[in-house]
Amino acid sequence: MRAGFYTRVTDTLDDIAARGLTKPEHVIASMQRPSLKLKDGREVVNFCANNYLGLADHTDVIEAGREAMRTHGAGMASVRFICGTQDLHKALEARIASYVGKEDAILFAACFDANAAVFEPLLGEEDAIVSDSLNHASIIDGVRLCKAKKYRFKNADLDDLETQLKAARANGARTIMIATDGVFSMDGYFAPLDGIAELADRYDALIMVDDCHATGFVGPKGSGTAHRLKVADRVDILTGTFGKALGGAMGGYIAARKPVIDLLRQRARPYLFSNALAPAVTGSSLKAIDLAEAGDDLRERLTTNAQRFRAGMQKAGFRLLPGSHPIIPVMLGDAKLAQALAARLLDHGVYVIGFSYPVVPDGQARIRTQMSAAHTFAQIDGAVAAFSACALELGVLA
Ligand SMILES: *Cc1c(COP(=O)(O)O)cnc(C)c1O
Repeated sequence: MRAGFYTRVTDTLDDIAARGLTKPEHVIASMQRPSLKLKDGREVVNFCANNYLGLADHTDVIEAGREAMRTHGAGMASVRFICGTQDLHKALEARIASYVGKEDAILFAACFDANAAVFEPLLGEEDAIVSDSLNHASIIDGVRLCKAKKYRFKNADLDDLETQLKAARANGARTIMIATDGVFSMDGYFAPLDGIAELADRYDALIMVDDCHATGFVGPKGSGTAHRLKVADRVDILTGTFGKALGGAMGGYIAARKPVIDLLRQRARPYLFSNALAPAVTGSSLKAIDLAEAGDDLRERLTTNAQRFRAGMQKAGFRLLPGSHPIIPVMLGDAKLAQALAARLLDHGVYVIGFSYPVVPDGQARIRTQMSAAHTFAQIDGAVAAFSACALELGVLA
């Protein structure tokens, strides 16, 4: 019944709210940058953007987007294969492929689409995908859309990966593809790609890596997690986004050997049936890659900022997940507590978000902070002070 449907919808919303899991959206009235203006007039310092290199408001990036719009228009009103391919698309595909060290690349409206697109055309029911249990939702959806047999291994657990590879081989898989995030976004942990590469060799498996939280700032010149561990040649398929460190606009890509990309152009459904990237996006992304590649100073600053925040928070007595990535989760356990602390911090001018189930496991609610090269030391020290003050108010710290 229709009435029953609408009642269920509101009941579900009420249930989400009662469990403290409603995700509020703050309305921002400025560009994405460390110092934000909210629509209600408040000025806050942002610690929850994926703006790792601070390129989202970079003058050159904005100017490149404007110029591309001036010369190439607002958009293509077409998918790529009909009348949607501009020289800018070809330039961006070549540029991102060479940046991450692959032969070719194919663009998507988002990395969510890239991950949804990548498995189904390449693997069939004779094949197997062995997927990390903490992989991004878009990989999970992409795997679901593919007919290959599915195996799951415990997050970053090489022993369990081997168990699953053995099972896939025992079941007669034709081709096995291991799929993993390069960096797990809720924890800031790196995938053990060197160990994965070794197992992939032993079990004759392909490797797919989603480097959304790495491209631009992890590895030499920001070329990614596989280069960081010197196994780039062993990774067959890379996916990533222009919506994070590389300017923050939007858009995703798959990079791989040329025939793989050629086949995806013929068969990948989110590519075949969705509009081409807009000139403002291709133009600004091209400039962002240039700045990222040349941005050793930005990467150094990002590392320094992450170390400074970590050290300050540890000294203040917070429980952090260990690591070196600019994703720094402050562990709180309880979902409502994480929400309450985030809300209190906003009153103190620090913009962070509490993450809870189902985004992270039940009972492991946290505030995920993310550092940027654009943060000043004063902003970072101010955030540590605000965390301490708010945590004392809420009884989080003894
Ligand atoms: C952000 C993210 C995506 C989605 O990227 P979009 O370009 O925003 O769609 C996919 N995978 C991972 C690991 C991510 O962190």
